Amino acid sequence: KVALGSLGKSRAKFISAEEKTGVTFDDFAGQDYIKRELQEIVGILKNEEEYQDRGIYCPKGVLLHGPPGTGKTLLAKAIAGEAGLPFFAANGTDFVEMFVGVAASRVKDLFSSARSFAPSIIFIDEIDAIGSKRGGPDIGGGGAEREQGLLQILTEMDGFKESTSQVLVIGATNRLDILDPALLRKGRFDKIVRVGLPSKDGRFAILKVHARNKFFRSEEEKTTLLQEIAEHAEDFTGAELQNILNEAGILTARKDKDYIGREELLEALKRQKGTFETGQEDSTEVPEELKLRLAYREAAVAVLACYFPDPYRPFTETNINSIRSQPNLQYVETPGRVFKKKEDYVNSIVRACAPRVIEEEMFGIDNMSWISAKATLEASRFAEFLILQTGMTALGKAYYRYQNDLVPNLASKLEALRDEYMRFSVEKCSFVLSENLSAVESITDILLDKGEIKADEIWKIFKSSSRLSLPPVRP
Ligand code: ADP
Repeated sequence: KVALGSLGKSRAKFISAEEKTGVTFDDFAGQDYIKRELQEIVGILKNEEEYQDRGIYCPKGVLLHGPPGTGKTLLAKAIAGEAGLPFFAANGTDFVEMFVGVAASRVKDLFSSARSFAPSIIFIDEIDAIGSKRGGPDIGGGGAEREQGLLQILTEMDGFKESTSQVLVIGATNRLDILDPALLRKGRFDKIVRVGLPSKDGRFAILKVHARNKFFRSEEEKTTLLQEIAEHAEDFTGAELQNILNEAGILTARKDKDYIGREELLEALKRQKGTFETGQEDSTEVPEELKLRLAYREAAVAVLACYFPDPYRPFTETNINSIRSQPNLQYVETPGRVFKKKEDYVNSIVRACAPRVIEEEMFGIDNMSWISAKATLEASRFAEFLILQTGMTALGKAYYRYQNDLVPNLASKLEALRDEYMRFSVEKCSFVLSENLSAVESITDILLDKGEIKADEIWKIFKSSSRLSLPPVRP
């Protein structure tokens, strides 16, 4: 993602803008009819005579709906890429998790940014977060806020006419059923395209796209292998198929092999299938497919522990020999010797994010597992503690035992603050991990090889890998 620096103007953080997405319809495989349908829109956007002559206008809105990971974002980027237009993206959830009054103004920001670079594309992912039916049950609160945002979208879409500033709005959702009907009316999202799970042939085509930059022994072997995987990957999304190839690539590199073989692909397929099925905790048997994920988790947690050392709670060792929802890193507890400052509370949120950040980095956002979910829970709890019970944040100077003690106004303030702390922590954690990625890799290798690693070895690796980087900057 590149902020539109090249197009000038500083831009609100929630909008991700790209001058050129660089994505084309060739990047999307399977379901060719979708491409044919969208190709027409690209033609109109590019002002091709054929369409002008026939008096065909571009729709104002296209709604892509289907399960997560099926390539909706990819298609939106491909439309922009093929038409050569700048791409402005936001997520529906970014409009509602905010202070009161912000949703509508963010919608305005998004549209005015896009308009000033028209012709251009707006993409709103998870549009259901802001565009759900009005007057329905108010799940999670913020109903009035959402309604303001939705009304603003409708106003903006009704505002622009075919002639002058052409802005195409693409929405994506996996909950078509809960969208407010007003959004689907003529002149708004009047083109609805379903993006479903790929068929067997579609899966093969998707695998081929993602095998483009991978090495196989021969073209024939590649075809045979990918066909076999396609056959056995029923109900897999494009994102999951992509991950199979990535994981097979990682396995191949770990074995120091030059080509991806059948063994690696089948192993990756097995891992992908097993990812979400292993919900058990504290079990002693660790299935093969989980070891890599656990090793990365432990390595990331260890690196963060080195980066934010706690003199009163040194760590001793870690391992990947059991499955627990908490990381396995062991500490020496020194009772009565705690001296925490605000920054230590913040750092503990950052540290708790490590399993999530590394999993997203290594396996992709669509292939995160319960490991990430547990880390998110832990980090959110720390954030809540800091906000509610210490009186050290913008929430106020009082102590609240429970979230339910808050009046609605404070509750939305809590939500916004928690969101802010979580964003900051994920960003900070991802900065620390990317600075020390070679240490993460080395610790992971040792864990996979020996099953465990002691503190002195962890410190040695951390120090030698971070020798060249700057001293840690405290947030
Ligand atoms: P969605 O927006 O529907 O959740 P994404 O577009 O984010 O899905 O898909 C995630 C990734 O999965 C894409 O960037 C792409 O690499 C891969 N992918 C998904 N579907 C396809 C497809 N049909 N062809 C090729 N790659 C795909």
